[in-house]
Amino acid sequence: MADVFVLAGPPGSGKGTQAKLLAPKLGVPHISLGDLLREAVRNRTRVGEIAKGYLDAGKLVPDQVAIDVAEEAVTKKECKNGFVIDGFPRTLEQAVLFDKLLGKLKFNLKKVLYIDISLNVILQRLTGRRSCSGCGAVFNLQFNPPRKEGTCDECGGPLRQRHDDTEEVIKVRYDVYREQTTPLIKYYSKAGKLVQIDGSKPVNDVFKDVSEAIGI
Ligand code: AMP
Repeated sequence: MADVFVLAGPPGSGKGTQAKLLAPKLGVPHISLGDLLREAVRNRTRVGEIAKGYLDAGKLVPDQVAIDVAEEAVTKKECKNGFVIDGFPRTLEQAVLFDKLLGKLKFNLKKVLYIDISLNVILQRLTGRRSCSGCGAVFNLQFNPPRKEGTCDECGGPLRQRHDDTEEVIKVRYDVYREQTTPLIKYYSKAGKLVQIDGSKPVNDVFKDVSEAIGI
């Protein structure tokens, strides 16, 4: 059975960054539900039209939309040997539907890596986050600035701030996370799947802990 790893944690915990490191090490694709939704918004698809208002406000898109997008992604043949997913599931309802989906597709949910950090660190990280509109590389003005202001080191593309990375929207996203996503910690811990990781350390140290926790 192919293994699935979920990266969970508050916005700004670095779950996307860790997923991007973990997937190539395991030789499987990385799926980011946030990235898929932002792409849908950019391409003005039907899902994108529904999702836009939620993303801008820092709220979760309806569960059915999230599960449909996740299902479409994980049923692609690139995922047949397993995958790493971040940003999904984010509610209990999504977790229950995800378990069913994994069962149907004969995947094994190996571990849920829960990356934990405080609101103060989140605010510092996210207000300084800039992403490349060309290749998706992520920088931070304070901790990992680009060599040339506003320009991606990797591909030379323009760097942008995400619409939902303003202090006001970050606080909404954090509250949404506390209310809707933290029940998952208990759910996965009861199922024996949860591994808690301290996300306040530097990226490479967190990745060492992630790798150790899953024995790779
Ligand atoms: P992220 O890139 O993971 O920070 O997600 C950005 C935004 O996408 C969130 O604030 C939500 O609006 C939406 N989103 C991402 N994943 C989910 C999900 N599993 N369920 C509902 N909405 C989601």
